[in-house]
Amino acid sequence: MPIEITLDGDKEIHDTRRIRADGSGTFEKVCEGVTEALKLGVEVSLRVNVDKDNLERLPGLTEVFKEHHWTDYPNFGPYLSPVECYEETGADNTLTDADILEYVYKTGLYGNDHPAFYNVGPTTGLIEAFFRNEMWNTSFCGAAKGLNYLFTPNGKVYPCLTFCGNDAYTIGTYQGDKITMNEQHSKWKNRDPFEMKNCKDCKYLLLCSGGCPARPNANAEECTIRPTYDRIIELFVNHNSGAYLKALEQHNNQQEEKKEQKQA
Ligand code: SF4
Repeated sequence: MPIEITLDGDKEIHDTRRIRADGSGTFEKVCEGVTEALKLGVEVSLRVNVDKDNLERLPGLTEVFKEHHWTDYPNFGPYLSPVECYEETGADNTLTDADILEYVYKTGLYGNDHPAFYNVGPTTGLIEAFFRNEMWNTSFCGAAKGLNYLFTPNGKVYPCLTFCGNDAYTIGTYQGDKITMNEQHSKWKNRDPFEMKNCKDCKYLLLCSGGCPARPNANAEECTIRPTYDRIIELFVNHNSGAYLKALEQHNNQQEEKKEQKQA
């Protein structure tokens, strides 16, 4: 089972966002932890939170991976996660999965070969799984399926790690071994994308299943993540079509050769 460790970018950015009570940064300490875990053979899923302020620092961050020799370990898996704003006011520095994918394709920082990142946000993962002909999920994530329960030390229960500490998203409380769920719980657990305004006729329904329940996409005037799917598909096809056509040509040639050998 992997452990997830988060960096908010390179040292300069991370140390302004992830600080101790005395104001000092935690970048070096996190790096020490990653190195120790990898040496012990623990699978490390390194989440890097990305927004407009640190996107162009990703190439520098991959140098850090190399300097620490993390890229020598097969149990090291760095991925990118867009910073999201769940407040109605929005935020100016957020990026979509598609924005980040476009950048990492352009800079050669995407893929399974180190020092690249192997995933960019949930929508990219869902589309890649679809193109790889893998069985895709029938829900956006474990939380949307009503499978996630996170218990925080202050007696609150949340559906997703993202919202721990934000009282607007509690789905229940616990004390001792007694757990009491509130009405928000059924909103997460019994959600049916086939009944949701934007989703029921959406071409991505079987891929996306209504997206993140904390976002208003499904019932807003217009879904805001559908354009992201459109863009990711376009990016994915443009990026991979050359390799795909080459593989197809090789396959066809091999089939031809086999046919000729049989006829001879
Ligand atoms: S309408 Fe939006 S949230 Fe609903 S399935 Fe389509 S893309 Fe997903």
